[in-house]
Amino acid sequence: MDVRARGSLRLEGLVKRFGDVEAVAGVTLDLPAGKLISFLGPSGCGKTTTLRMIAGLERPTEGRIYLDGEDITDRPPHLRDIGMVFQTLALFPHLTVAGNIGYGLRIRGVPKTEIDRRVNELLALVSLQGLGDRRISQLSGGQRQRVATARALALEPRLFLLDEPLSALDANLREQLQVELRLLQQKLGITTIMVTHDQREAMTMSDLVVVMNQGRIEQVGEPLEVYRRPETAFVASFIGRTNLLRGEAADGVVRVAGRPFDVVGPVVAGPVTISVRPEDAHLHTTQTPERNALPGRVVFVRDLGELFECYVDCGMDEPVVVAGSPRERVHVEQGQPVGVSFPREACVVVEG
Ligand code: ATP
Repeated sequence: MDVRARGSLRLEGLVKRFGDVEAVAGVTLDLPAGKLISFLGPSGCGKTTTLRMIAGLERPTEGRIYLDGEDITDRPPHLRDIGMVFQTLALFPHLTVAGNIGYGLRIRGVPKTEIDRRVNELLALVSLQGLGDRRISQLSGGQRQRVATARALALEPRLFLLDEPLSALDANLREQLQVELRLLQQKLGITTIMVTHDQREAMTMSDLVVVMNQGRIEQVGEPLEVYRRPETAFVASFIGRTNLLRGEAADGVVRVAGRPFDVVGPVVAGPVTISVRPEDAHLHTTQTPERNALPGRVVFVRDLGELFECYVDCGMDEPVVVAGSPRERVHVEQGQPVGVSFPREACVVVEG
């Protein structure tokens, strides 16, 4: 069977209650085969619980789970054809690297020569050739992560589940392994679901991002689509940074601080919130345009070498952040009166 044709998952009305706590409050979702999907959201939003229900480690209070059209809701974890890497990795410290990777094959009674062959293949796959005899305690954090990945893939599962797989690693190694894991997933074409609270990780690795909040799905989409077209203020603020401009709509015209704004999408009369990414806003030191712009005063400037940022008090709840390349920076001083403009195509209505 072509691995790319397997591993489509359907979650139907999934609910999980722990006593009074509704950890997952009705999740319905179709996940296509062969893709990497991340569940992204703040601590406690229900992403791990959803993943654990898919793995069979938690029983849903309500709802069904279908893998390739088969109802697996009541099936025990070891019969689900799922490989999983936990945050803690949960490697067996008394076994060697090869012992860990071949563990599942041994349990299933695969002959030793076949196990050796598969283990060598998997060691190469995760760039650990020659380290099969090492003890787990003799490995670096990144190497341990690779062993856990190889062990989870040994049985060629239909679904590969990752629960915050890189959270224990330092920032540089983490970025490197994000790319490595993504390349591996693309090479194998294995349907993968990853839980993370790190939006950069989700955007680096995913075909689809599922943003969760308080047990519910807020938005599902391709990473850039979710970034550029957030549907709610929560998504806009959680994925990257954003400026939220509060205004009013009347007679088809949106006004922020009394100034007219052209925006993306339809608006209804009443209060509106517009999200504009810092990199889409522009600074003006001479004349502030009439439309889609606000006057203000510079409160803080920083140049990080790779990024220039200017914070401007425009009378909103928070200072407006303007970001850009230092090479194109507009020179301004703290306290200087300036204008900030927000191009129409960058003004996304997230509420109202
Ligand atoms: P984190 O990133 O912190 O792991 P999460 O989004 O994965 O967060 P969950 O672990 O799914 O969130 O938890 C969702 C909610 O359910 C939380 O309020 C949590 O305290 C609660 N919860 C999870 N597991 C249990 C349990 N076994 N018993 C009681 N409450 C639980």
